Amino acid sequence: MSAMASEGDVVRIDEVEMGEAGTADGILAREKEKFEYIHGHVEHQELHVPPLDELCKVLKSALVKNFKEVHVDVVDCPDLLQKPWSLAAPGICGSTRLALVGGVPYLIPVPNLSKVYNFDIIAKQIGLRNGFFLGPGAGNSRAIGTCCEMMANVKLSPDIIRSKMAKVNPEDGSAELHDYKVKEFSMMADMLVSEGKQGKVVKVIAKSRKGKDNFVSCMRQSLDHYYGNFRTVGMGGVFCIETGQAKLHVMPAFSKEALDSDEHVKEWLNFYTMDSPLTCLSVFVSNDSGLDLRLEHTHCFSDHGQGGHYHEDTTPEEVSYLGYFVPAEYVYRIDRPPSTHTIGRD
Ligand SMILES: [Zn+2]
Repeated sequence: MSAMASEGDVVRIDEVEMGEAGTADGILAREKEKFEYIHGHVEHQELHVPPLDELCKVLKSALVKNFKEVHVDVVDCPDLLQKPWSLAAPGICGSTRLALVGGVPYLIPVPNLSKVYNFDIIAKQIGLRNGFFLGPGAGNSRAIGTCCEMMANVKLSPDIIRSKMAKVNPEDGSAELHDYKVKEFSMMADMLVSEGKQGKVVKVIAKSRKGKDNFVSCMRQSLDHYYGNFRTVGMGGVFCIETGQAKLHVMPAFSKEALDSDEHVKEWLNFYTMDSPLTCLSVFVSNDSGLDLRLEHTHCFSDHGQGGHYHEDTTPEEVSYLGYFVPAEYVYRIDRPPSTHTIGRD
């Protein structure tokens, strides 16, 4: 397909074989010449880093109100290269930081397609050139040809890319999951970055939900209540929805009309009920420390072609979660939108 394109044609990655890094990289090299990356300015803050055993107690105190069976312990990080985790590094420890890039205001009410970010440049900006990036974001629509959900899973120098992306098939409205061998993303991402080492982590097991909060909100709110307004705790990690089903969304093609309310955003998004096991990449902060932080954001992928943006499980009785999390030492806020709003942050 790409051989048929003449100079200057925009060739979409989904018109060539997905997963062929060489082919996609060739196209991206040409695409790169056509526009400049905009990375904006960088702000950073220290985060409050509680001892891990204290974090266990705080998280457990909230989880037991929301789930029938809960275990929260400090453990040695298992090998996260293995299934169901399938990460690009064995662990999530070492020089932990959150890289919170761009934001929803670059998508809503109208998309700003000039906002494209590169992992290598962000790695330099946050002082971790061989960083392991893990978390949700928006895929590079210039490369993919449409709006899509990204599950960033990238270890740099040497590069290991195990990222995925979910997009909507415009023919039938179904959601598709693909490998995403692209080192760029668009508009926003909320990522945990570390050296990708194994070390001490917080292991969380929660089974059979009895409350109304989703797994991530429950943990985030517990941090907010315990640490209060004057300390911000940021965490990230990976969890698996081992049993049951979950409600996820996938962004379809960009809306032709401006999305000026949560109702319009909901009408635009495609929602799906997806099956376990789902591996979920998650970042959350206890409160907004003044940098216009998104408080929680989680994207999931699987081996069975399903994935997207996590909202909640839909099978409270049978759901079970297993996750590994670490607190981040710093938050780096990159290219914060100059004007902001709270639409579309669910
Ligand atoms: Zn998302």
